[in-house]
Amino acid sequence: MRVVLLGPPGVGKGTQGRRLAGERGWLLISTGEILRDAAARRTQLGLEAQRQMDRGLLVSDDLMIDLVRERTSEADASWGFVLDGFPRTVPQAEALDGMLAKRSQKLDAVLYLKLNEDELVRRLSGRRECPVCKRAYNIYTSPSRDGVHCNDHPDVELIRRLDDEPETVKRRIKVYQEQTAPLVDYYRRGRMLHEVDGAGRPEAVYDALRAALNGAEH
Ligand code: AMP
Repeated sequence: MRVVLLGPPGVGKGTQGRRLAGERGWLLISTGEILRDAAARRTQLGLEAQRQMDRGLLVSDDLMIDLVRERTSEADASWGFVLDGFPRTVPQAEALDGMLAKRSQKLDAVLYLKLNEDELVRRLSGRRECPVCKRAYNIYTSPSRDGVHCNDHPDVELIRRLDDEPETVKRRIKVYQEQTAPLVDYYRRGRMLHEVDGAGRPEAVYDALRAALNGAEH
């Protein structure tokens, strides 16, 4: 199956996407992860993306569409994939439909994770990660054992992503509302949208997500 995870920053797309892809044997394509990795390696793509990412703004449609066209056409994507963080604009969604149609493929489902803004801000500002293993923590909902260091790397202090700083968080949510939220209607019109409540514990959200996906499969 080919699935899109749609929803605001901080709703849990990364966590849920990783689990879903892992359980089903599908490829997880997280565009934010790919860009952060490219930035860390200082590749051309990474350097181009970094400025926008740090400011909480979107990277250009052309760049993102090329990236996803390439990644979804590789052999490990043929069994199915979960897109986390793409599409983020209507032109990206149209390009995705177009590239799949050219391969006689289509999307099977769009899972829309919803959460109110106060909770999004709380989750994003509490988010921390281990710079070594990338394990995710949250000082409010899932802190590490001592609240400061990684459980698996006791000498390593957890860090906050630059784009999780409070001012940038506000901008990312605004950018989501202006540029990405219109995709809800886009996919609703295509009868592909399945709404999932993103509040509650990750296990409960995952159960709701799986139920929505089962509905889409039958
Ligand atoms: P994420 O990890 O999904 O929150 O993405 C982090 C950042 O990467 C975003 O704030 C954007 O700057 C950039 N990014 C990721 N995916 C896209 C996309 N599909 N279109 C434009 N920018 C993106």
